[in-house]
Amino acid sequence: MNKKIAVITGGCGFLGSYLCERLIGEGFKVICIDNLITGNLENIRHLLNDNDFRFIKHNVTKYIKIREKIDFVLHFASPASPEDYLKFPIQTLKVGSLGTHNALGLAKAKRAKFLLASTSEVYGDPLVHPQAESYWGNVNPVGVRGCYDESKRFAEALTMAYQRMHKLDTKIIRIFNTYGPRMRIIDGRVVPNFIHQVLHNKPLTIYGKGTQTRSFCYIDDLVNGVFCMMNSGISGPVNLGNPHEFTILRLAKLVIKLTGAKKDIIFKPLPQDDPRQRQPDISKAKKLLKWSPKIGLEEGLQKTLEWFLKP
Ligand code: UDP
Repeated sequence: MNKKIAVITGGCGFLGSYLCERLIGEGFKVICIDNLITGNLENIRHLLNDNDFRFIKHNVTKYIKIREKIDFVLHFASPASPEDYLKFPIQTLKVGSLGTHNALGLAKAKRAKFLLASTSEVYGDPLVHPQAESYWGNVNPVGVRGCYDESKRFAEALTMAYQRMHKLDTKIIRIFNTYGPRMRIIDGRVVPNFIHQVLHNKPLTIYGKGTQTRSFCYIDDLVNGVFCMMNSGISGPVNLGNPHEFTILRLAKLVIKLTGAKKDIIFKPLPQDDPRQRQPDISKAKKLLKWSPKIGLEEGLQKTLEWFLKP
């Protein structure tokens, strides 16, 4: 039997690389596309000799040329750490707009299903809590996060336009804070930052007072959610994340507890437009996908720490 073929843009990134592995494991052939601006070849090096895997170094803001038939296009390419999109605001806007256009064009040409990796950032600094998919968000288009938030909002709108105009089978997931092994230690996001700091005997940096909240989802749970969505008849948008909400101060204390590091925290200014609270309402995913995350923060942090501690 011919294997199904999935194209994964951003396949060398943190989420993308896990998805490459998972789909190969599920019997797919995977074509991974990445321009390596924030992705890392090391994340997929172990797959390079696999007959079911092909890596193409390419920037998806340019035309994507694939010869074979394709069953799925999973569009995960984008800088995703606030530090990265501050460093690459134009590339972030281009991959969310032009990149999404090309990825949708590829799906349309091949009559493939299309899945967009969108984000909780479409809710901005939310005025509704927890955030359900029905909430339209509170985004500052001219703030420093605007490049990411607006490009993902545009990507969602473009995806819906392709669904309506071209009858493309599309799916949108909104991914909330996700963490786990394989994140870059110098990534800028809070979990690897804190781990890097304790491993180097540096004080943990809390931005603002640490009263802002996030809800952290372990990578394995998230990948399960993506796979459920791929196989569903649902177009979404669907929130994927862990609904257990923590203050950043509580996260810092948990990292300190798990590592036995000496208790040392310093407070730094809160970055502009940093959302004050974030918690996914995952009722839709629970009901329609029969999915919910299984791994709690303490267990997930432990696994992540073990990975970072490996020689
Ligand atoms: N944060 C922090 N210290 C750090 C890195 C991040 O206090 O060293 C805070 C950041 O201000 C935000 C939260 O942790 O409120 C989550 O930040 P992250 O960069 O992980 O992602 P975001 O959810 O903001 O996209």
